[in-house]
Amino acid sequence: MDGFILDKGFQVYLTDYSLGKKFLNYSNLNFCFFKPGAKIYKNSNFYHISDPLKNPQELHKTLFSPLASFSDKLKILYLKNLLSKFDNDDFLNDKDMSTKEYLKKFGFSLKFINDFFVPFFGGVFLENELTTSSSFFKFVFSKFSKGSVVIPKKGMQEIPNQLYNNISEEKVILNTKVVSLDNNKAIINDGTFIEFKKLVLAGDINDVNPRMIKYNSVKCFYFVCDEKISNDKYIHLFPEDDLINNVVFINNISPSYAPNDVSLLSISLIGNFLKTENLIKIIQNKISKIYRINLNKIHFLKKYQIDKALPHQSKGYYERNIKPSRDYFFSGDHTTHSSIEGAMLSGKRIADRLIN
Ligand SMILES: Cc1cc2nc3c(=O)[nH]c(=O)nc-3n(C[C@H](O)[C@H](O)[C@H](O)COP(=O)(O)OP(=O)(O)OC[C@H]3O[C@@H](n4cnc5c(N)ncnc54)[C@H](O)[C@@H]3O)c2cc1C
Repeated sequence: MDGFILDKGFQVYLTDYSLGKKFLNYSNLNFCFFKPGAKIYKNSNFYHISDPLKNPQELHKTLFSPLASFSDKLKILYLKNLLSKFDNDDFLNDKDMSTKEYLKKFGFSLKFINDFFVPFFGGVFLENELTTSSSFFKFVFSKFSKGSVVIPKKGMQEIPNQLYNNISEEKVILNTKVVSLDNNKAIINDGTFIEFKKLVLAGDINDVNPRMIKYNSVKCFYFVCDEKISNDKYIHLFPEDDLINNVVFINNISPSYAPNDVSLLSISLIGNFLKTENLIKIIQNKISKIYRINLNKIHFLKKYQIDKALPHQSKGYYERNIKPSRDYFFSGDHTTHSSIEGAMLSGKRIADRLIN
């Protein structure tokens, strides 16, 4: 959109992704950094949950944050240490349970689970009950706490663009849909076909095997505010709100996302069924109250409804065995874990298999 970069749904890249480090050229992506931790809106106030090890100058804010008890704070540090090496190969040997169950067993207070883990990881999993597998939680927690949370200066699309630029153009056909398969032919939507010796399907597995995967969905709204509201580089979480999961002033992270004198707000909503027109009004009112801005300065820009956002990775999900058919193989985040790293891992695994 003119003058704005709008990612299709709020996404971040985690610099500690092992394969990402290998396959991407980080310096060309010009990463822009979030501050570690989050700001949590409760009882009409924002509270910091910062990572004292990464952000020592904010140690006092974390230690005195009323949201977490002393025991919760110590447990966070212990968990960080315990999970520091959790990576792609650890999913299958891990004792799996739901994330909520894991956090309770770990001894976190229910208050801290609800005020921090539910909105933070609910925003990552795109579901608020934390029924997502604890193995995925461990992976993501490890990556969040070891590396930095970033977006490329010119938007998330820069990541696939960089990979694409490393492949010669004639090897990729864009904007073309495979509508069916016929022996060793992939039939294209214009009626033509491409012959193959080996085929890797990296699209929607439900097209081939209906109801194979259940998805979590998300709505992402972009609003622009006529004036700069703040210079804040945190993710804002809303544990008490029945609509908003998170708000990010995305052009505070990368100024390229919007003109200088405005604030661009990315607002994510999980699981609600109100009509868009109603949601726009409700969100405008909420934003006006929370950030104390005149209502007529907040303008709706764009909404993305993403129905098949992330596969729902509940307990036991990683033990599924997606077998290749006689003629083709599967790739994509649904064969590993749903993240940019999971997508790269799936591509690498299938390439290794075909080469060998
Ligand atoms: C809102 C949202 C937020 C996310 N946040 C993060 C995050 O913060 N960090 C993170 O690491 N990950 C995040 N993810 C997950 C991450 O984006 C995905 O795991 C990853 O992009 C999956 O890559 P993929 O290649 O498996 O699938 P996709 O990126 O979905 O690619 C599949 C491709 O196949 C094409 N296709 C489908 N069917 C056909 C067909 N019949 N013919 C031809 N082409 C077809 C599609 O058009 C698409 O381009 C997020 C995802 C969403 C949706």
